[in-house]
Amino acid sequence: MHPIIFVSLGPGDPELISIKGLKALMSADCIFCPQTFTKDNHTTSRAADIILSLGINSCNIRRFTLPMSKQRDKAIGAYNKVYIEATKLQSENKKICIVAEGDAGFYSSIHYIFDKLQANGIPVTQIAGIPAFIAAGALGGLHVANQNERLTVIPGATTAEEIEKLINENSNIVIMKLSQCTDQIHRCIHLHPEYSYHYFENIGTSNQKYLNNSQEIASISYPYFSLLIIQHNHN
Ligand code: SAH
Repeated sequence: MHPIIFVSLGPGDPELISIKGLKALMSADCIFCPQTFTKDNHTTSRAADIILSLGINSCNIRRFTLPMSKQRDKAIGAYNKVYIEATKLQSENKKICIVAEGDAGFYSSIHYIFDKLQANGIPVTQIAGIPAFIAAGALGGLHVANQNERLTVIPGATTAEEIEKLINENSNIVIMKLSQCTDQIHRCIHLHPEYSYHYFENIGTSNQKYLNNSQEIASISYPYFSLLIIQHNHN
């Protein structure tokens, strides 16, 4: 029986998958791939876009719909279906991959399936990938963390005061899921224009955006696929 492989796809640029991940996809019989519905009722899947531009046969891709809801139980329903289908195919000796954007073990809700497989003694492995914030650092030519600096990753909910406290503790900060804390980010930029702010949107896609002008960053709203790196400005 082949282990079910969780393949990390990287942040969007198809060339940022690992060779190991690509090989797993190329030899898979079935690749489970999340998609979502847009407001105008079309399906969209960044993961499928990455896989298809790597030249993987689309017949081997099995898309499943993830409800775009903060309520985790709706996604769990979709994941439980994938669990059942994937384990059935695995028992028929098929090679199965399940994909995730960025790194599959970094703020990746699909890891729920991995945990359930492992808990039930089913062979499963995970291939590392480049998380969005690391690709962001490269895009901006940043030294994301330098010498004795710390790095704190915040998944959305934060306040200007928390950011100030972390910067005073010598930590650089990565804020993901930015749309959850837009007002606090705007406030922080007004309170601390002296910090360095680096804003990234849709990294690795044709809509990619990088801003390092804090006044501009303070005047926009943030889509789901955006993140911010804040550093103390030592100059
Ligand atoms: N597993 C992913 C993280 C998923 S959580 C990883 O390793 O990067 C989703 C959050 O990741 C988004 O809200 C956004 O903050 C960030 N993100 C993921 N892909 C991104 C991209 N292409 N551009 C900018 N931010 C991205």
